[in-house]
Amino acid sequence: MENCIFCKIIKGEIPANKVFEDEHTLAFNDINPQAPVHILVIQREHYAGVHEIPGDSRDIIPQLFSTVTKVVVQEGLVEAGYRLVINFGKSSGQEVPHIHIHILAGRSMQWPPG
Ligand code: AMP
Repeated sequence: MENCIFCKIIKGEIPANKVFEDEHTLAFNDINPQAPVHILVIQREHYAGVHEIPGDSRDIIPQLFSTVTKVVVQEGLVEAGYRLVINFGKSSGQEVPHIHIHILAGRSMQWPPG
């Protein structure tokens, strides 16, 4: 999608601090981290929310979580724990309408989230 920041990162048009990438997904550090570790995992195709993924493209969901698994192991987050977040729409505060999984770690988290 033309004006999507994350599509621009995928195309290499704007820089990102990448921690992992494969043919389907990309993981990079959040520009405004909310925890000592704050990594975003995105897929290369543009959808704003998981409900928009067509039935014949639902491999995207396991591909995203496969990358999450690789990243939390690679970054050594498993022992202390981590939180995964996916926002969609206004009430969630979603800023970038391209599906992304936040990986947050490195501090104690509150529940419920604000
Ligand atoms: P959300 O509110 O769930 O849409 O989260 C969007 C996230 O993208 C926020 O945590 C932003 O800090 C982050 N973000 C926005 N632009 C960039 C960028 N160019 N590089 C890395 N992270 C970004």
